[in-house]
Amino acid sequence: MAGKKLIVVFGATGAQGGGVARALLDDGTFKVRAVTRSPRKKKAEELRRRGAEVVKADQDDEASLERALAGAYGAFIVTNFWEHCSKEKEIEQGQRLADLSKRQGLHHVVFSGLENVHQLTGGRLEVLHFDGKGVVEEYFQKIGVPTTIIRLPFYFENFLSIFKPQKAPQRDTFVLETELKTPLYLLRAGLHCSWDQSLHTELPMGDTPMDGMAVEDLGPIVLCLLKSPGEYIGQVIGLSTGKLTEAEYAAILSQQTGKTVTASKISPEEYEKQDFPGAKETAAMFRFYALKPDRNVALTMKLNPKARTFQQWVGDNKNAF
Ligand code: NAP
Repeated sequence: MAGKKLIVVFGATGAQGGGVARALLDDGTFKVRAVTRSPRKKKAEELRRRGAEVVKADQDDEASLERALAGAYGAFIVTNFWEHCSKEKEIEQGQRLADLSKRQGLHHVVFSGLENVHQLTGGRLEVLHFDGKGVVEEYFQKIGVPTTIIRLPFYFENFLSIFKPQKAPQRDTFVLETELKTPLYLLRAGLHCSWDQSLHTELPMGDTPMDGMAVEDLGPIVLCLLKSPGEYIGQVIGLSTGKLTEAEYAAILSQQTGKTVTASKISPEEYEKQDFPGAKETAAMFRFYALKPDRNVALTMKLNPKARTFQQWVGDNKNAF
């Protein structure tokens, strides 16, 4: 291990950071320090077993972050808007990490950002979980941290959780709908920012194609970026393994699972009128997706030649539907 550069991975017990930590550990070029607020949780233990150093730190606690970043060559940084649903808090967390990265002289940060939709659309759309990340992206660049920004598209894994096809009543078909439930950790934390009811809604994309990728395939991408700092520092990379319409997503799900999955035909206007917290913001996100944000399939495939198309991903996961 001596001599290997140390990468600090935030969100290491989650979807993005978990994949990044595993890819780095499997590859072996870098030492991995995995950050969590709960080092005894199963996912942290699993990373330790694979060879990571697991440290306790909280993105709201500067001293703990300072310790977590000590001696690091680089970092993968992701913030989780859905934990608190506050744009301001996400900006504070991101800027705190940017300041510390600068102060500790990190050589390369891969930051998982998203567009500042509010700014890009001249205030026409507001997508809080994008906008805050956009502010932080700009901050990393402004203060001169050597950064590569990545922007993830809609995760395919959303089709197994909040956008799992729901059985249509009295029919043998499944509809692409959203199942919005309060995440368990929010219930545990007693937070009220998220959805406090279970209900169904749809993907309001009409015939406009929407980018996607398996978040599970992110790890090798970040590994590749960290191995080629000269090529990728300063770049903003929109990730995707393909753009499909809702009808095409539904057709692939039908073909692969053997169940009839139909696309809903809800408009963003109908969508945002629904009575659940976040409906308006989620509708604005789909409206932004309809503006076709820049996602680069060729570069994504160059960075991870094994990143799966939707067809391949559903093929690997069909038993879960
Ligand atoms: P996730 O699977 O829910 O995991 C969240 C991770 O963040 C956990 O590892 C958690 O660690 C860590 N975390 C949360 N708050 C923390 C804090 N205060 N201090 C330290 N660690 C903290 O989340 P994910 O999917 O990897 O990433 C979420 C982000 O992805 C969101 O901001 C979302 O906007 C963005 N995103 C999602 C999509 C999508 O389609 N779903 C697409 C693009 C971008 P511990 O609990 O172990 O401490």
